[in-house]
Amino acid sequence: MLKTGSSGGIYIHPWDITDEGIDTCYDFLGEVCGLNELFVAAAYHAGTFILPHNPRRMVRWDDGGIYFRPQHPRWSETRIRPAVGEGVDTHGYMDRIVDRARARDWGVLFFVVFNYSVPLPQRYPELCCVDAMGERHRTYLCPANPDVRAYNLAIVADLLGTYGGDGIRHESLGFGSWKHVFLCDKVEVQPAPRDGFLLSLCFCGHCRQRARAAGFDPEPLRLAVRAHLYESLPGNPRDFDTGEADEEWMRNAFDGDLWRYMEVRCETTASLFGAVQELCNEQGAAFMPFGNEEGRQVARGIDFSLIRPHLKRVSLAAPGHTAEEKRAGLEAGVAAVPEHAVPEIMHNQRFFDSAEALCAAVGMAREAGIRHHSFHYYGMSRRHELEWIGQAREAWA
Ligand SMILES: [Zn+2]
Repeated sequence: MLKTGSSGGIYIHPWDITDEGIDTCYDFLGEVCGLNELFVAAAYHAGTFILPHNPRRMVRWDDGGIYFRPQHPRWSETRIRPAVGEGVDTHGYMDRIVDRARARDWGVLFFVVFNYSVPLPQRYPELCCVDAMGERHRTYLCPANPDVRAYNLAIVADLLGTYGGDGIRHESLGFGSWKHVFLCDKVEVQPAPRDGFLLSLCFCGHCRQRARAAGFDPEPLRLAVRAHLYESLPGNPRDFDTGEADEEWMRNAFDGDLWRYMEVRCETTASLFGAVQELCNEQGAAFMPFGNEEGRQVARGIDFSLIRPHLKRVSLAAPGHTAEEKRAGLEAGVAAVPEHAVPEIMHNQRFFDSAEALCAAVGMAREAGIRHHSFHYYGMSRRHELEWIGQAREAWA
């Protein structure tokens, strides 16, 4: 069950724990940092990591994948065979990570990167987003595709049902941008914001089918977007339409057809988020998006109305630059948290240059009423920055 009252957590990659040795790592987190909750990155994107205190390697090149053995029956509902991450050597790999945390009465949440992937698009290019010009994305699975949706739900079901997580915090569950990092970026001609948005629209067979099922033929829109991009992208930057891809523009562009398509995309994402929320509810777990948002936000392609009634914690950020601005922003953020949830905040210890500075920021959040604190990734931090965390532990004591 999700920790209530207060908690001190940290984001952590599974290899951080197992490279160091589970008990050695947990002893440090518990005794030096004073923490009692993990946000384990159980599914993650590819990356290059510098690991300043890892005893086995200073640099890790990682293809990304899931960091547990898939076991749940729901995996039979998708033809996607997940990319199992490097280092996951046995079925018990994630069990040990969770069980030894539970032995200390720690909370265990899972951080999940869903549809942004490098290995899966290579194996399943037909499941990726397709732009208006017919090019398949190479880093992003389309959330309208039934196999992708079943894959998303299998991850959640496994992490909650098999591995017993308290909740899911996520990234990239909906549609993504055309410009997720793939290989060396050689985009020398940067598209204007609206063109970048149009490049990110998916017109794969499933997206088009969902539109037709909603009574909208997307083909004229696709052709119009395609024609627009062919005219716009070769142009000189000074001639670009540099306006933002905001709601007013979306509602009016392409004679309203863009907005109609956005409505379909929003429903595609909303129903997927709703299905994840249902799985969380079945397991008594929390679905924990970042932020405190509500309502149907078609322009962003997300509908929070299926999620908000079930929120248990709301992740806030300290906005502004000065201490006064941050304090006022936090107090306003706390006041806006719905009654059935509690506020939470993540601090990045690497943004501070001393223990005192980190403690001041954590203390300010505590004074604003936040009793659930978490810290950014363990393995990517310097040892002394992690030690500072322990000096702030009164905030979640
Ligand atoms: Zn699609």
